[in-house]
Amino acid sequence: MNNGSITRATINLSALKHNQLVLQQQAPNSQILAVIKANAYGHGMVRVAQTLSGIYAFGVARLNEALALRAAGISKPIVLLEGFFHADDLKILVEHNLQTVVHSQQQLDAILASDLNSCLQVWLKLDTGMHRIGFHEAEFDDAYQALKASKNVSKPIHLMTHFNCADELDNNITAEQNRRFKTHIKSDSGLVSSANSAATLAWPQTHADIIRPGIALYGVSPFIDKVAEDFNLQPVMTLKSQLISVRSHQAGESVGYGAGWTATNNTKLGVVAVGYGDGYPRMAPEGTPVLVNGRLVPIVGRVSMDMLTVDLGEHCREQVGDEVILWGKGLPAAQVAKHIGTIAYELVTKLTARVALDYV
Ligand code: PLP
Repeated sequence: MNNGSITRATINLSALKHNQLVLQQQAPNSQILAVIKANAYGHGMVRVAQTLSGIYAFGVARLNEALALRAAGISKPIVLLEGFFHADDLKILVEHNLQTVVHSQQQLDAILASDLNSCLQVWLKLDTGMHRIGFHEAEFDDAYQALKASKNVSKPIHLMTHFNCADELDNNITAEQNRRFKTHIKSDSGLVSSANSAATLAWPQTHADIIRPGIALYGVSPFIDKVAEDFNLQPVMTLKSQLISVRSHQAGESVGYGAGWTATNNTKLGVVAVGYGDGYPRMAPEGTPVLVNGRLVPIVGRVSMDMLTVDLGEHCREQVGDEVILWGKGLPAAQVAKHIGTIAYELVTKLTARVALDYV
C-alpha cells in the first residue's frame, strides 16, 4: 500500500512460519512460547501473533503488550516474562487470563496478600547466573512452597530460568546452569522452560517442555559468528528505501554534517531516504554496507535524521528511485549490526512509526 512512506519494512510471514518449523524441528519434544515483546522485535506484534499457529503461548514484557494482544482477539496463553509491576495489576491478569512470571519477593508477597477469588497461573523464575531477575537458588524452594500453599495460585506451578551466555558456543556455563536448574524441578511442578533462541539451536539438553525463541523466529542468528543460513533460518524483515539523489562528487569534496568524509577520487554519491528518524542507527560508521541493485556499497559521511549517503562509484549505473536494502534479504541484519557495533535485536526493534510495515 502506498501511504507515502518511502522507507518500508517488508515482513515475510511465510519466512516466519518457516522459522517456526525449523525451531520446532530442533526441539521436536517441546512446545513453543513465541517471544513477541517490543512489537515482535519490530515486526508487528498482532500480525505475528495471528500468523504463528500451533504454538503453546506468547511471551511479552509488559502488561500493555498483553492487553493489546487480548484486545486484538488473541486468545492463546500469554506470559508476562518480567511479571507484573503493581499489586493492582493482579486483578487485570486474572480478568484477561494472563500468566505471570514471579521473580521477586515483592511479587510473591503481593500475590500472597491479594484477594483474587481466582487462581493465577504463575511461572516461578530461578536465577541461574544472569543475576538480573529471578530467585536465588537458596530462596527458590521456599518461594515455590509459598506459591503452592496460596489459594490465589493455580497448580501446578511452572518453572523457568533464562540463560545469559547461550550464544557463546564454547562456553559451558549454559550446560552448568541448566544442570543446576534441573535440580530444582519438583515432582509436582508444572511446565519447565529455559531455552531462548541460542539455547534452542545450540544446547539441546535445555529444551525441556517449552522453548522460548525470539530472534530466531524472525530469521536472525543469535550467534556472532554464525549466520541465519547456517540454521536454515530465513530473514523475516527486509528494510528497504530508495535513492532520492545520485550526483557526481569530486575528489576533495566532503559530504554531510561535520564534513567528516572526503572523497579521495571522483565518484558518484547516492542519497538514501533513511536515517535515524526511521530507526537506522546514527552511529553507523563509514563503510557500513547497504545493498543497491544487488551490490554492496558503503555508507560515507554521517547518517542524518532522514537520509544517509553511499559511495556508488564513478561509473555506477544507479538512478534516482532505485531500491536500497538496508538489511534483510541479501544483507543479514546481524552483518550490518556487527559493523555498527550493536546487535541485530536492536536494529529490528528500533524502527520508528514512520516506517511502513508491508506484510507479504
Ligand atoms: N525468554 C526471555 C525471558 C526473554 O527475556 C527473551 C528475550 O529477551 C527470550 C526468551 C527470547 O530471547 P531470544 O530473542 O534471544 O531468543
